[in-house]
Amino acid sequence: MRAATSTRLADADVGAVDTHCPYCALQCGMTLSPAGRASVRVRPRDPSAGGLCQKGWTSAALLGSPARLTTPLVRDGGTLRPASWDEALGLVARRIKEISAERGPDAVAVFGGGGLTNEKAYLLGKFARVALGTSQVDYNGRFCMSSAAAAAHRAFGLDRGLPFPLTDLEGADAVLLAGANPAETMPPFLSHLRRAMDAGGLIVVDPRRTPTAERAALHLAPAPGTDLALALGILHAAVAGGRLDHAYVAERTTGFEETWRVAAAWWPERVERVTGVAAADQRRAAAMLSEAASAYVLTARGVEQHATGVDTAGAWINLALALGLPGRRGSGWGCLTGQGNGQGGREHGQKADQLPGYRKIDDPAARAHVARVWGIEPSALPGPGRSAFELLDALGTGGGPSALLVFGSNPAVSAPHSARVADRLAALDLLVVSDIVLSETARMADVVLPITQWAEEDGTLTNLEGRVLLRRRALAPPPGVRTDLEVLHDLAVLLGQPPERFPAAPETVFTELRAASEGGPADYSGVTWDRLRAGERLHWPVPRRPEHGQPERDKPGHDKPEHDKPGHPGTPRLFLDRFAHPDGRARFAAVDHKGPAEPPDEEFPLYAITGRVLQHYQSGAQTRRVEELRAAVPEAYVEVHPDTARRAGLSDGAAAAVVGRRGRVVVPVRCVPSMRPDVVFLPFHFPGAQRANLVTNPALDPVSRMPEFKVCAVRLTPAGEREAQ
Ligand code: SF4
Repeated sequence: MRAATSTRLADADVGAVDTHCPYCALQCGMTLSPAGRASVRVRPRDPSAGGLCQKGWTSAALLGSPARLTTPLVRDGGTLRPASWDEALGLVARRIKEISAERGPDAVAVFGGGGLTNEKAYLLGKFARVALGTSQVDYNGRFCMSSAAAAAHRAFGLDRGLPFPLTDLEGADAVLLAGANPAETMPPFLSHLRRAMDAGGLIVVDPRRTPTAERAALHLAPAPGTDLALALGILHAAVAGGRLDHAYVAERTTGFEETWRVAAAWWPERVERVTGVAAADQRRAAAMLSEAASAYVLTARGVEQHATGVDTAGAWINLALALGLPGRRGSGWGCLTGQGNGQGGREHGQKADQLPGYRKIDDPAARAHVARVWGIEPSALPGPGRSAFELLDALGTGGGPSALLVFGSNPAVSAPHSARVADRLAALDLLVVSDIVLSETARMADVVLPITQWAEEDGTLTNLEGRVLLRRRALAPPPGVRTDLEVLHDLAVLLGQPPERFPAAPETVFTELRAASEGGPADYSGVTWDRLRAGERLHWPVPRRPEHGQPERDKPGHDKPEHDKPGHPGTPRLFLDRFAHPDGRARFAAVDHKGPAEPPDEEFPLYAITGRVLQHYQSGAQTRRVEELRAAVPEAYVEVHPDTARRAGLSDGAAAAVVGRRGRVVVPVRCVPSMRPDVVFLPFHFPGAQRANLVTNPALDPVSRMPEFKVCAVRLTPAGEREAQ
């Protein structure tokens, strides 16, 4: 293990290095000083304009943490012991060969993460399909952004979280944030909403009065699982109030009539009975958005993490379309992506149904293109595999994989119905985890591979506005660790692949990614590391050939030699002229309210909702090991209205059991008067008996296969002595 003081500068990189925060999709720019501590580089029009949040400021603390893994571990007689890389990788390769030979290639599965760089996500998907030959590959981004992605594909023909630059929001007079709490998840983002907040134009839809809702001029607090009905009510109010943008709907969309047939039955007073949101407030929201010169509708996990997440995101898109917002400069709809590379991570092939460039794996032309880049026959590419929860749920069962390789994820804490997932992980014949610390999933592994952290490696990420960013190596990694790319290279070679097919140098991998993405929806072929190093702000698609579709004589630099021609400038704003469907029109979706998959009943009378706190990120594997963050929020808790606590025989600080159909969470009570009396809130960053996902419902959206993290039925009781321990 390495001491905190031993963080060293790379010889080649002496001096401050500009890079990006390792955590959320805002990807705030930061400068790492020679001491290795993070500090802000002020750039007024950069996403970091609002500074760094506490997570960003403290992110360097983990670089020298004593919790850092610096040697491979292999399980021996029930315990993990240090091993050499040769022993660890040799063991993994041998077991993979044995399991694959015995049960077929789909017996070996891969689970990735939305924090992996584009290069890692790309090489991981290629490793799964080519080196392992398995279809069983998916990633934790399935839990985060897949419902909005599917809804955006359906509506616009293309998914990019924000189809406009983040800075466009600075001109907004009105912004509706549905199921988003950026004041805690990405505080600097609020600097872009300053004008809307100052103008009294911020509308927040959230069952809780979050720190974001506190800043809103209008806070709408629907019952959990009813925000689709609320979106229908606001749409109804807009149309009935004469606010429909008839010209836009006629010229740029299809499907409004079918959508209105559904929304017509959801007049605001009826919606009020279902959601608890006053009809007058629904009408006020419609008026605020339609009367603003510049207005946006933005959604996030609160909208998506439902068994009806695609339709719920679609309902908010319907509202934006009815008001004529998407595809117009200065207005729009967008999704706030969560994980650091949540956008790029879903574009480059670690998803069960996708190939690089956001291509579909069942599209023959896509398969032919990617197979050509990879030097294999299209028929050698596996088809679609299981989605994330279905994959985890099948582990160690008769028909499911019996080996799993995990990169950049901690599903023992972050997956829904986590007791079931832990059982499945324990049933595997081989569990391999590549991580920087001994996460809860790594503790269960047969082999743990210690890898580099963000500041110790180069790579690219794609932030929430679809802009490709260069992550720069600022520090030499400690002896003994390897990059994920090196691990994939080494394993691929041990499995019999030619070494050049799995390059370990990130820029080389990116060059191949560019070719694999060329011509796809997320086309990176015109992005080069040299352009990123030069500070170009490139939003995909960035085709290799500049100014596609223009006559040659009109292209900038047409008279210059090819290597001197300027690159494509990227596409900061999508859809200004047309949407990505073949007819150029956006699609309304005729979606209706269904409600949560598991509504409260007599036995479990409360809604449990889950979410984040400012100090922690995802499963907390990193942030729980940063002393300043751990000291600020050392453990989970349950937020509850004081009356609800009293009825359960509980008071502030008492140990409570939040009991659901799949398990129970034992946490101290935090009484919050602004909570709805029918709702309890659990942060999901904590392990053991405090895992919020012990109670969450793995009911999946039929399209995105995203679980219903955001609502399940529970009851609240005092914790027994055994539970409180
Ligand atoms: S966690 Fe997100 S908001 Fe906070 S500093 Fe990092 S990138 Fe910025």
